Amino acid sequence: MPTILDGAVIAAAIRQEVAGEVRALGRQGVRPGLAAVLVGNVAASEIYVRSKVQTCADLGIYSELITPPESVTTEEMLDLVAALNDRDEIDGILIQLPLPAHVDAKAVLDAVSPAKDVDGLHPVNAGRLQAGRPALAPCTPAGIIQILQRSGIPIAGRHAVVVGRSDIVGKPVAMLLLHQNATVTICHSKTRDLGAITRQADILVAAIGRAGFITPEMVKPGATIIDVGINRISEQTEFDSFFAGDAKREAAFVKRGSTIVGDVHPKAFEHAGAYTPVPGGVGPLTIAMLMANTVCAAKMRRGL
Ligand code: NDP
Repeated sequence: MPTILDGAVIAAAIRQEVAGEVRALGRQGVRPGLAAVLVGNVAASEIYVRSKVQTCADLGIYSELITPPESVTTEEMLDLVAALNDRDEIDGILIQLPLPAHVDAKAVLDAVSPAKDVDGLHPVNAGRLQAGRPALAPCTPAGIIQILQRSGIPIAGRHAVVVGRSDIVGKPVAMLLLHQNATVTICHSKTRDLGAITRQADILVAAIGRAGFITPEMVKPGATIIDVGINRISEQTEFDSFFAGDAKREAAFVKRGSTIVGDVHPKAFEHAGAYTPVPGGVGPLTIAMLMANTVCAAKMRRGL
């Protein structure tokens, strides 16, 4: 039976450690602070940002939720970011994506001070990460490394195959795995004979955004599978193709009208040595690592 890598348990341990660091900083008169900027009324973003703000409160981190209207201009966003960059009590600035189409998202993200870039999306932090210098790393990739390390899964010398090359997940997780001495292959939509490559993976990271894309024959028996994908499905036929016979999941699907599937077909997990489930695998780590990055930014800015 494969081992299930329980992200909720690992995230809880990280949150506890972060809360301890926040208390220790408090004794030195420092309270880490996060500003979360949420533009407009995207329901999914709102739920996500509110849970980030709530987690800050749980851990003793100061937080502010700033909610410019949907009509905000790029210039107004740049002014807001500049003001947050200047405020000493703000250590981390989080710009919740997506921004409205009329706002130049790249310009806004690039305006965030690299020292306060707790999402690790600024090109300066991407460069530092690549160069192996101290950097604020993107939260989901950093969380994946935590899952592997805290589960005792060796990385050094293993062949890690990352499917997906986004700036948010694929590229940074590949770089972090490389720094942990894995032999890393990055695959993408132009990769030929993908299955022949994924079958070589000791550690397979799927960050594609396509429900159940990694099928059983693409997995080496005994591999560790990290499923980053979050894909909502609402068609019964699609549900049946993934979860036929899973009565508990079907009851929840019928009640809610949809369910979440990762980028890995559930049947492929049967071949794994260990895997992250969806939900409850990689997802919980993202907010925990945001908290860790906020504390890290607070320390780095003060030279602690
Ligand atoms: P992107 O859409 O930015 O990137 C997807 C990548 O998958 C691209 O590099 C693309 O290749 C590649 N890809 C697409 N189709 C194929 C294919 N047929 N064969 C091989 N590669 C393919 O997505 P993200 O990286 O932002 O997110 C990936 C998934 O992870 C999504 O489901 C997202 O919801 C989830 N996610 C989960 C998080 C969490 O907290 N758990 C956080 C962030 C994301 P190409 O570059 O050639 O187009």
